[in-house]
Amino acid sequence: MVSVRSLGGTVAMTTAGPGRGAAPAVSASDLVDSVPALQDIARVDAVSVAGVPSASLEFRHLLDLKAELDSACTAGAKGAVVTQGTDTMEETAFLLDLLWDRPEPLVVTGAMRTADSVGADGPANLLAAVATAVDPAAAGRGCLVVMNDEIHAARTVHKAHTASVAAFVSPGAGPVGRVQEGWVLFHSTTRRTDAFDVPAGTEIARVALLRPGLADDTVLLKAAAGSYDGIVIEGMGGGHVSARWVEPLLAAAQQVPVVLASRTGAGTVLTRTYGYPGSEQQLLGAGLTPAGDLDGLKARILLALAISTSGSRDSVRRAFEQRAAPR
Ligand code: ASP
Repeated sequence: MVSVRSLGGTVAMTTAGPGRGAAPAVSASDLVDSVPALQDIARVDAVSVAGVPSASLEFRHLLDLKAELDSACTAGAKGAVVTQGTDTMEETAFLLDLLWDRPEPLVVTGAMRTADSVGADGPANLLAAVATAVDPAAAGRGCLVVMNDEIHAARTVHKAHTASVAAFVSPGAGPVGRVQEGWVLFHSTTRRTDAFDVPAGTEIARVALLRPGLADDTVLLKAAAGSYDGIVIEGMGGGHVSARWVEPLLAAAQQVPVVLASRTGAGTVLTRTYGYPGSEQQLLGAGLTPAGDLDGLKARILLALAISTSGSRDSVRRAFEQRAAPR
C-alpha cells in the first residue's frame, strides 16, 4: 500500500474555459484513477488534504501532513507520495525531509502542465513517484522529488524554469537517480541527518530571506532585524555583502540568528578565502552561521525549524553544522 496525499497545484488543476486561468479541480482519487498503470505497481490509498496553489501552502499543512503520513506508515503503508504545486516544491520537500524520521520512502511530485492539457505530465510523474515510493532502494533516503522521470534529493532540488517539464534540477549535484522502463535506478547516495521533532502546536519561527543586489541600501535589513526571529542573507558570490551592509548586518546578528548563504545557486558558502569588509571571513568571524551548500530558501526552512525547536544560539549553529556543513 502507498499513501497518496494531494495538496493541490497544477497537477490537480484544469482550465475552466477559454481565457480562464487554471485552478484546482481534481481530487487525489481522480488523479490516481487517471493512471490505470498504478494498479500494476501498488495498492494506493488516495486522499485530498488541500486544494491550493503551492504558493499558499503554510507550514501547518506540511506539519499535519507529516503526522498523517507517519500514522499511515505505522499502519502499514510501504511508502508515501505527496502531490502538490511545483512553485514551492523545493521548500516543502526539504521541510518534509527535515521532519521525516522513518525509513519508508516519502516522494513529492507534481506537474508543469494542467491535468486537461495536451501532453499533461502529471500522470507520468505520479506513476514514477509511486514506483519510487515502493522501491526498497528508496528506503532510508528521506524525502525525494520525482519529476520528469528524474529523482532528486530534497536538499538539492530547485525549480529552474517557469514552464518546462524539465524544470527541476539539482545544481552542482545532479539527480540521485531516474525512473526508466519502470525501473527505479539510483546512482548516488542521499545525505541523511537527524530529523527535527516538532511537537504539535509549535509555532514556527518567522525568518526573513534577503538577497542584496548591486549598490543595495539597508532599509529592508534594518526592518527585518526588528521584526523577525531570524534572518538568512543570500550574499553575493561566495557569501559577501557590500561594506555598507557590514555594520547593520552585525548589529542584526546581535539581535537574532543570521545565516549566510550564497545567491549563486550552487557550491558551498566560502569560509576562508576573502578578508575584506563584507567578506565571508569577516561575517562568519562576527557570528553569522554559514549555510553550507543550502541555498537561501532551504536555509530559511532549516533556520525556522532550528529556532522553533530550540531557540538557543548554540543549537541553531549545531543544526547547521550537522545538516548543512560541507562533507
Ligand atoms: N502555480 C502552480 C503551483 O505551484 C504551479 C504548479 O503546480 O506547477 O501550485
